[in-house]
Amino acid sequence: MATIDIKNLRKVFGDAGEQIVAVDDFDLTIEDGEFLVFVGPSGCGKTTTLRCVAGLEDVTEGSIEFDGTDVTDQRARERDVAMVFQNYALYPHMTVRKNIGFPLRLSTKQSTAEIDAKVDEVTEMLGIQQLLDQKPKELSGGQQQRVALGRAIIRDPELFLMDEPLSNLDAKLRSTMRTELQELQQDLGVTTAYVTHDQTEAMAMGDRIAILNEGKLQQVGTAEEVYRSPTNEFVAGFIGSPSINLFTADVDGDTLTGPGGFTFTLEDTALLSDKDRVRVGVRPEDLRLSSGGSMPSVVTVVEQMGNENFLYAEMGGVDLTARIESGIKPEEGTRVAFAFDEEDLYLFDSQTGEAIKTK
Ligand code: ADP
Ligand code: MG
Repeated sequence: MATIDIKNLRKVFGDAGEQIVAVDDFDLTIEDGEFLVFVGPSGCGKTTTLRCVAGLEDVTEGSIEFDGTDVTDQRARERDVAMVFQNYALYPHMTVRKNIGFPLRLSTKQSTAEIDAKVDEVTEMLGIQQLLDQKPKELSGGQQQRVALGRAIIRDPELFLMDEPLSNLDAKLRSTMRTELQELQQDLGVTTAYVTHDQTEAMAMGDRIAILNEGKLQQVGTAEEVYRSPTNEFVAGFIGSPSINLFTADVDGDTLTGPGGFTFTLEDTALLSDKDRVRVGVRPEDLRLSSGGSMPSVVTVVEQMGNENFLYAEMGGVDLTARIESGIKPEEGTRVAFAFDEEDLYLFDSQTGEAIKTK
């Protein structure tokens, strides 16, 4: 187990002609025993960050410390890290027993009997003891991913790094495996950094979530913190499903006016003293239908989900989503209005995107 410090990390690919800054100005501590999830859109630098921590990439600037020891110049095999990838990376010609035992055969002087005993223990933990004599191509995707996990666990590393390990599995298996992985991590207590592009997965799994965009760490916090108190408009837009409604409004004293006749008067007048315009955010679950509401809209589609409906509407060219009770189903084209409470309102600086007000 270990505390991992990523200090001022910067990683640039390419030469002077064409440079890609994959990770920049990145500071983060992963606590001992923590399950930390990196999340962000494709290309935001998740894999690169993980590879720098693993020692598979040289860093351009900054340092990586394991329990206070600088490992920046250590190669991957000198760091006590096990990685699990999306594509499993199993050896096709080896049985499950050989695949899982491989890291021990490679790195220790343990006898075959000792290694076999460890393999038995790990496969039992993962519920795949009946597969020991099979080859990878005879296994389902979920079984292959368990074997890949087994190969990581058997090394008993200080740190697990997992890069989208569940993304090749179908939705049902993915959700089962999420729970299993979390339980396994809790039992083992090994510090874990887990990468996903799926914010739902991040919210469900992480002790804390680190949100990246364009190579930069945007925010680190619990699911509740990043949902309720995003540091900027990007985080607000990325976290939450369906996404938060966002639009621009003009500021006149304590009153906001915006597209399609949007108007809202704030009680907390100090918030907007020096602004001409702001970005306004309201989550779909915080909107309600109300004839005198601040957001006059026209219904475009109603999606019935069983216990609730999603109402899609347009307000002066801005698309809105509202989550409403299942009994209510206005016709397409109906004029409606939405209301919300000031405490549920998010406001962002229209230039920098930084949060002015959150929940
Ligand atoms: P993510 O895992 O979040 O999708 P990556 O870390 O793979 O993002 O990539 C971050 C950026 O770095 C992207 O612009 C990507 O094209 C670039 N990149 C990643 N690896 C390399 C490489 N080996 N050579 C050049 N550019 C790379
Ligand atoms: Mg990646």
